[in-house]
Amino acid sequence: MTKPALIIHGGFFTEHQTDPLMKAQKQQALLRIVREGWEYLQTHTAFETVVFCSILLEDDPLFNAGTGSQIQSDGVTRMSAAVCDGTTGRFSGVINIENVKNPILIASRLQQEEDRVLGGEGALKYAREHGFDYYNPQTDHRIREYEEKRRSLINTGTIGCVALDFGGALAAATSTGGKGFELVGRVSDSATVAGNYANSWCGVSCTGVGEDIINGAMAAKIVTRVTDGMTLGEALRKTFDEIKPFDGFAGVIAIDSYGNIGHQDSHPSMVYAWKNRLGESVFD
Ligand code: ASP
Repeated sequence: MTKPALIIHGGFFTEHQTDPLMKAQKQQALLRIVREGWEYLQTHTAFETVVFCSILLEDDPLFNAGTGSQIQSDGVTRMSAAVCDGTTGRFSGVINIENVKNPILIASRLQQEEDRVLGGEGALKYAREHGFDYYNPQTDHRIREYEEKRRSLINTGTIGCVALDFGGALAAATSTGGKGFELVGRVSDSATVAGNYANSWCGVSCTGVGEDIINGAMAAKIVTRVTDGMTLGEALRKTFDEIKPFDGFAGVIAIDSYGNIGHQDSHPSMVYAWKNRLGESVFD
């Protein structure tokens, strides 16, 4: 039996190719979080676990989500996050929310609502009304980066998590500070079904250039393909083949209902870690 299973990602990074210290820090962070998440998964559902892991990842300033999120072209940090419960089929999320600590918690809180994806001011108003206090997610590093106008599309570091629990339930969560230096109002893939999706057959979280991920409808397609009978490997390959004509930049983590763990990226330097009963692994 391969249940349960857990995989997390920390987006793409370029620095670790030139900075061995940064690479080691990211490996340690991902390994620590996948191990904590694994412990948690022993007594919690997949849904609870993806939220738990996302909080740990959002709170680590190494990653571009929650604390340490990137800054948009007007100097403001706006974050997006979504969670999808594979059992109920419910997707909920926040788009471009400002000044909160854990966007994934607000996305998760929205599971109970009829209106489950909120953007901008409405998302912030909802957060405040439900006890999420003011928090400034900008770090000195991100402010320096912004001031230097370093706008690399691949230096992102969004976070994501997919889990399969003992009961066979799947869930996926994704949280991002965006691609950095984007136009105000730009909508990331992370809080759409292109970037984050799960049902009872498969769960997927994406990272990379949101426009490419949306063009490829990637998470929803992979989940649909597995639901319709493809293996996870085939579904990943086909979906990545379809973004080749426009040189799509994307990375994916996934788990199917059998506990198979999948990862694929179109470019090098995606960072991720997984764990199941048979072992664990962190990106190299
Ligand atoms: N997909 C995110 C976005 O385009 C960025 C990332 O994954 O790093 O907003």
